[in-house]
Amino acid sequence: MLKNVNPNILQITNAFMYTEYPHKSFWSTDMGSEDCHSALLELLTDEPNVPLLLYVHILYCTKLCWFCNCHIGEITQSQDKRKDYLELLYSEIRLFKKLFDKHSLAPNFTEIHLGGGSPTDLSMNDFSRLVENLSSIVDIKNLSEFSIEIDPRHSSREMLRFYHNQGINRISFGIQDFDPGVQKAINRIQPIELVEKLMGPEISDLFPNGINFDIICGLPHQTTETIKRTMDECVRLSPDRICFNYLHQAPEFSKHQRLMSDGKFGRPDHLPDYYERKKLFTIAMETLIKAGYIRTGYDHFAKPTDAVAKAMAEGKMQWNALGVTAGRYTSIIGVGIQSFSTIGNYYFQNFYDLKKYRESLRQGQFPIFRGHRQNQDDLIRRDVIQTLRSFFSIDFRCIDEKYAINFEEYFDPELVALDDYVRDGLIEIKDRSIIITEKGHQFANTVCYVFDKYKKNRPKF
Ligand code: SF4
Repeated sequence: MLKNVNPNILQITNAFMYTEYPHKSFWSTDMGSEDCHSALLELLTDEPNVPLLLYVHILYCTKLCWFCNCHIGEITQSQDKRKDYLELLYSEIRLFKKLFDKHSLAPNFTEIHLGGGSPTDLSMNDFSRLVENLSSIVDIKNLSEFSIEIDPRHSSREMLRFYHNQGINRISFGIQDFDPGVQKAINRIQPIELVEKLMGPEISDLFPNGINFDIICGLPHQTTETIKRTMDECVRLSPDRICFNYLHQAPEFSKHQRLMSDGKFGRPDHLPDYYERKKLFTIAMETLIKAGYIRTGYDHFAKPTDAVAKAMAEGKMQWNALGVTAGRYTSIIGVGIQSFSTIGNYYFQNFYDLKKYRESLRQGQFPIFRGHRQNQDDLIRRDVIQTLRSFFSIDFRCIDEKYAINFEEYFDPELVALDDYVRDGLIEIKDRSIIITEKGHQFANTVCYVFDKYKKNRPKF
């Protein structure tokens, strides 16, 4: 598959994932609480009924998975620390409520997603209190989707029934890999029986919006045989959606990634290289497609009955930091440490640091660490990147009409730069469209990279 691909293209192994554009490393720390305040008022005044997703970040985990690059704060068993963090979260929610009440706004939250960290490490009492607090700004009963990330090691059928009773209608299991050798190498022992116990028709009925499995490609000791077995098991357990992400290696930030494989700090052995990762991906993809799943964007697969597969067929599917979505919302309000918000044409991110997060809230300020206001060029490029990454093609006429430009003139340097991709058979440019070929699908991020205007100034990690 990688034969005859230009080395200049192959060496772009670290193109951003483009869940947002520009990447958050280009956002400005000059933007803060006041900017977030005005962006929200601007959006909700212009479009009072705009559908919104509320993202809630739950800090802390009880055990460290060595591949992880989520912001978890620390590893702790302490329920007191969790309670303390939840109190901060509630004060952030109260800030939003105060703003909405002051301006007589009733935002149309249509979805909530609980991520982390480990939301399933909260006690049932704390979880109920969290939902109670969320209810102060969200009409839980009328949500179209309320989803949660589930750690199968800390869950049970009873817990799943409890979540259902709290209003949750979609669950996402952190699986990573079913192979015991791979699980050991990433410090996440999770026998398949744990997941099997949490599946079945009774559970599917509780969560009508579907069940997702998160699997990672490129973990230590993964081979073509192990990934095939893992995917066969996925097919047997039959989730509605599978997110098959490449391992994001960033040991500069997540130092514990150096523990992978042998539990000692150092260069992780047995990590599949670039070529092996592509091979693993291809085998997994073929297994899923043969079983009837549809590829929905770069790294997601869904049953044809899933909302995302339907949205893809209708051209409505979207892509954000939470993965592919059915395109029912574009604006996101994030609460909790490090969470992101997309408010109209603005991006914001909360502090990573607990002390700064706490201090901001104490002063009655939104705990914003950095932000970015997208200009017209950002919006155009974001649209091009998102469309290519989601649908593997783009029709120039759509961009011309939407932004009153001529695609070929606007993107002349980019189209020249894509010549290598055409020569290598990764894309075709015809009938005023770019089509990423079957061979090129795995390079979709690299094709998007060509349209990234900020990449020249990318910080060195
Ligand atoms: S992968 Fe999930 S459970 Fe493991 S450390 Fe990261 S957030 Fe926690």
